[in-house]
This record gives sequence, C-alpha cells and structure tokens, in this order.
Amino acid sequence: MTDTLPILVAGGGIGGLTAALSLARSGHAVQVLEKASRLGEIGAGIQLGPNAFHVFDRLGIGERARAMAVFIDSLLLMDAMEDGEICRIPLGQDFRARFGNPYAVIHRGDLHGVILQACEANPLIRLRTSSEVVDYEQDSGSVTAILASGERVHGTALVGADGLWSNIRRRVVNDGMPRVSGHTTYRSVIPTEMMPEDLRWNAATLWAGPKCHIVHYPLSGWKSFNLVVTYHNDAPEPVAGKSVDQEEVMRGFEHVCDRARSIISHGRDWKLWVLCDRDPVQQWQDGRVVLLGDAAHPMMQYMAQGACMAMEDAVALGDAVAAQPARIEDGFADYVARRCLRTARVQLQSRWMGEHVYHPDGAHAALRNGIMRAKSPEQWYDAIEWLYGGAQNGAGEHPMARRQAAE
Ligand SMILES: Cc1cc2nc3c(=O)[nH]c(=O)nc-3n(C[C@H](O)[C@H](O)[C@H](O)COP(=O)(O)OP(=O)(O)OC[C@H]3O[C@@H](n4cnc5c(N)ncnc54)[C@H](O)[C@@H]3O)c2cc1C
Repeated sequence: MTDTLPILVAGGGIGGLTAALSLARSGHAVQVLEKASRLGEIGAGIQLGPNAFHVFDRLGIGERARAMAVFIDSLLLMDAMEDGEICRIPLGQDFRARFGNPYAVIHRGDLHGVILQACEANPLIRLRTSSEVVDYEQDSGSVTAILASGERVHGTALVGADGLWSNIRRRVVNDGMPRVSGHTTYRSVIPTEMMPEDLRWNAATLWAGPKCHIVHYPLSGWKSFNLVVTYHNDAPEPVAGKSVDQEEVMRGFEHVCDRARSIISHGRDWKLWVLCDRDPVQQWQDGRVVLLGDAAHPMMQYMAQGACMAMEDAVALGDAVAAQPARIEDGFADYVARRCLRTARVQLQSRWMGEHVYHPDGAHAALRNGIMRAKSPEQWYDAIEWLYGGAQNGAGEHPMARRQAAE
C-alpha cells in the first residue's frame, strides 16, 4: 500500500532515518525533512546493545551494521580512585546465546551511513536537507509541515524525530526547556597508537570516580579509540559540541588515580557538551503527529541506550502503523502505548546510574563496589534481561526465534 501523500519525518538522525526505513518497509512513502545542510553524525563512538542488533535484523541491515562494529569482550568497571577492577560483565558466547545478539561499539558516522544507504536505496524514501520544520497544521486527513523557509510540505502524518530541542515536541507536549543536568561531557577520538598500550582493552571501559568518570573503547576496526570523559560540575547552561583545550578537560580529574588521568592526556580536539534530559511523559501524540527518539524521551547516556531506544521506537512505529492501515492515528496511539513505559524506565534508570554507579564518593562508592563485585555473570544477565532480551521491547518478536548470533 502506498499513500498518496507521504508520511513526513522531521529529523534525519539515527532515529528519523530508522523510522523512515521501518515505515517504508511496511509500504508507506516517506519524506525526511532534515534541518542541517547534509545528513550525518558527529565524529564519535556509540555502544550498541543486542536490542540494537534486533532492530538491524528486522530492517534488513544487520549484516552491514555488523561489518562496521567492533565486538568487545566485556563491559569493564574500574575504580578511578584505587586503580582497580570493580567488575566485568562478559559479552562472549553465553551473553550472545542469552540475548540472541552481540554487544558492540561502532563509529556514529558508520552507523548513520549504514541506515542512510538503506534509505537511499529505498524508492519509497525521499530525503531533503536544509529543511527545518518549525511548526505544523493538521486536519482530519492530512498534516502540513511548515519549514523555516516558509515552505509548506503536505503529508498524511508527521513523525517528530527532531532530537532534544524538538520543535514538534514544543507543540505536542509543551513542557518547556529540557532539564540541564549539570554534567559536562568531553569527547575525543584518537588513533589507536596514541592510546597507551596497557590500556588498549577490548572492552567498553568505565573508570568511575567521585563526580566524574572516563569511558574508552576501540572503534573502526581498532583504528581509533573513543574517549568520553564526564565531570559533574553543575554547569548551568546547555552547550553542544564546543571546542575546548586539554587543561579544561583535566580540571575535573585532579583527584583520580594517575592511570585514569593519563588517559585524558592522550586526547586531542576535545569537544564539550553539557548534557540535558527530561522527565518521562506519556503525551507523545497529537492526532496525526507523533514523537520518536530523543524528541520523545531524551535521556542521560549512562545506560548507553538513547539511540538504541530511538531505533526500537522506529520498528515499533512501523509495526503499529502497518497494523492499522485505515487509521494512522490509531497506529500512532498503539505505538505510544507500546513504547512509553519502557523508555520511561530507561530515562529514569539512566539518571539513577549516574548517581549510584558512575559518580559516587566515599562510603557510597564502597557500597557500589561491594554490590557490583558480588554479582556473577548470570546475575548480571538476569538484571539486564528486561532491556536486551525480552519480547516486550516493542521491536518485534523475541530475537532468539530468528538468530543465534555467532560472531
Ligand atoms: C555523550 C553521549 C553518549 C551517548 N552514548 C550512547 C550510546 O553509547 N548508545 C546509545 O544508544 N545512545 C547513546 N547516546 C544517545 C544518542 O546519541 C541519542 O539518543 C540519539 O542520537 C538520538 O537520536 P535521534 O535521531 O532521536 O536525535 P538526534 O540524533 O538529535 O537527531 C535529530 C536530527 O534532527 C535534526 N533536526 C533538529 N531539529 C530539526 C527540525 N526542527 N526539523 C528538521 N530536522 C531537525 C537534527 O539536525 C538531527 O539530524 C549518547 C548521547 C550522549 C550525549
């Protein structure tokens, strides 16, 4: 079935493009309206849980995504004060067998590129850049997206995948500005040879310290390392992608062990973000308009799930719309019902992880270490089953029915 008018998607990030692909695969013409002058992603890494690979498999891009990914052996938690391992979650065969897919890390540009290529190859998808959606109007049968240029673009429905600062959300939810967390994140990608040899671990490593942490993992076939360091310095204003010098990055890490601090000294071309999120809401829909990804549920990065959730949303949206061919509003309502509590849980738990796992101090940190050290791999797998493994993720059937990952 192809509608006369396309479904409009505001935003060509990971969420918007995945939504376009998912809707097109169920037979809908889609037009993506992206604000930027080119489609792309920032130069940094991203972690992908098995739930992301369930999505790729559903959308027919699993093999291409796997070809770009680095399959790490473990999630490793280090104490940034004592320079010692707290715990390690193995990601080998037992993990893959349990969750039906691997855990991996990937360059954002590579991930976005895989999804973009699939969109470009789909004749039902039209991609437009330099097209910021500033507002919309709707009647009982259609939606009009109003662009910053004044142009009016007609569609059968509108998906707001326009990120943290979503214009579409302003109309649908109207809940003001995002919450400024006060956590400042600095990102750098360095060639592998610049990473100290004794730290070139095949793991997503987190060094947790009081009000600060450092994350590193290999990228792009081990050609580079992704460094992400965060300092809870109560920064009052949102900032995105500002260049900063090494001294500024070092400032929040005076108190951590030498080895953890030395990682930062190897970074270069640091960029700064002051992170924001929002409280969960259930109001994602206004008739023929619906939200997806960060526009619907912006979250802290501490579960490494924002993009994974956006991609799960996309598959759930495609499924829900396909199941309600006569009334797209009803499909949107089913999609929201299926997604909003799961994403609310990830939003709230991400905040909780920042406070109780990433940034505690003193007795609070000792308690974290004690609790986390005591868990066996099986206990860890039980604890994350709800996130990676179940059939309730809105991204389709249980993955084990389709794939026993063997990478
Ligand atoms: C430090 C950090 C680390 C992270 N690590 C991970 C991780 O390891 N794993 C993970 O899954 N997630 C991670 N995330 C979260 C992830 O980056 C986001 O959740 C994800 O990128 C959201 O995708 P999106 O498409 O919804 O929004 P965005 O990526 O923000 O894309 C929105 C798009 O819409 C465009 N746009 C904006 N406004 C308009 C408009 N009005 N009209 C048209 N276009 C518009 C933008 O230009 C952009 O292209 C991390 C986030 C941070 C900050």
